[in-house]
Amino acid sequence: MPLDMHLHLRDGIMLENIGVLSAYSFSGAIIMPNLVPPVRSKEELVAYKQRILNAVGMEAADEDEFDDIGEFSDNGGFEPYMTLFYQNYDKEFLTDVAEELTAIKLYPAGITTNSEGGVKNFDIEEMRPTLEAMAELGIPLCVHGETDGFVMDREAEFMNIYDALASNFPTLKIIMEHITTKEATQMLDKHPNLYATITVHHLIISLDDVVGGMMKPHLFCKPIAKRPEDREALLKIALDAHPKVMFGSDSAPHPKDKKESCGCAAGVFTAPIALQLLCEIFDKHGKLANLQSFVSDNAQSIYGICPEFKEVTLVEKEFSVPQDYKGVVPMYAGETIGWSIEDVD
Ligand SMILES: [Zn+2]
Repeated sequence: MPLDMHLHLRDGIMLENIGVLSAYSFSGAIIMPNLVPPVRSKEELVAYKQRILNAVGMEAADEDEFDDIGEFSDNGGFEPYMTLFYQNYDKEFLTDVAEELTAIKLYPAGITTNSEGGVKNFDIEEMRPTLEAMAELGIPLCVHGETDGFVMDREAEFMNIYDALASNFPTLKIIMEHITTKEATQMLDKHPNLYATITVHHLIISLDDVVGGMMKPHLFCKPIAKRPEDREALLKIALDAHPKVMFGSDSAPHPKDKKESCGCAAGVFTAPIALQLLCEIFDKHGKLANLQSFVSDNAQSIYGICPEFKEVTLVEKEFSVPQDYKGVVPMYAGETIGWSIEDVD
């Protein structure tokens, strides 16, 4: 039951085009709420979930278009685990919406795609009623942890805020999303209530791959890929399947012209090749036995979720990554990767 614990499915035509790619090989995914406008009410959340289910169901009938990723079985087993966009919510509202959501996602204001309405200053007392209510109701807080400092230092600088959140709200589960630095990996052992997701691209690339030679817009994302030693630190806890670490692709589709343009949008699109790449990485390091924990079991125990059964068979066989999936360019577009999805049951 592969789980993608950080996924952008967008909305409208983009959702209809790419939702099925995640639903094919994943049992479920934590769905990010940074739409325009962001998901902030129960009505918006329920309606968005329904649009996702519709998009996945609709496209499931349309098998031919995606021949190159393998045969579709039925897509029944895909659970969108919904999130709200963090703002100060009162307990009454949270109690009412708790059954419909899995987590709340906090963005610092303006730090990434569609995050303008996020948190401006991290005043613990201002946030206390909301965060205490979330802790009581067992709603985890997912955090995009970057300051507005120098781009390479933003995540490391945010560790003070994680410290403050984790120690002020010791019963709140806090997930450091898409961590990219060794500083973040060290935080995991500092607070019992801190967890993390790691993307597949941050296990593979460093900043050199983005801007060290010709600029690669399709590898440009937030947080930006860091130094080789940061990647090594991420690899270590991922390959060991550290029990507080989960896979979250942060797969973030943008139309090709928004990536290959002056003012390139941030986001790497990996959803259709994430599992294959993870197999390749874990196999290369002799750690395939830990992949199940990294991509499913850890998330199930951290979030307390029981996804529907889905068994994905991967084989060490070359897969030619398409140039694009309905106008969205994936990582490794036009290249060959070492593993393929053989079957999904
Ligand atoms: Zn994201």
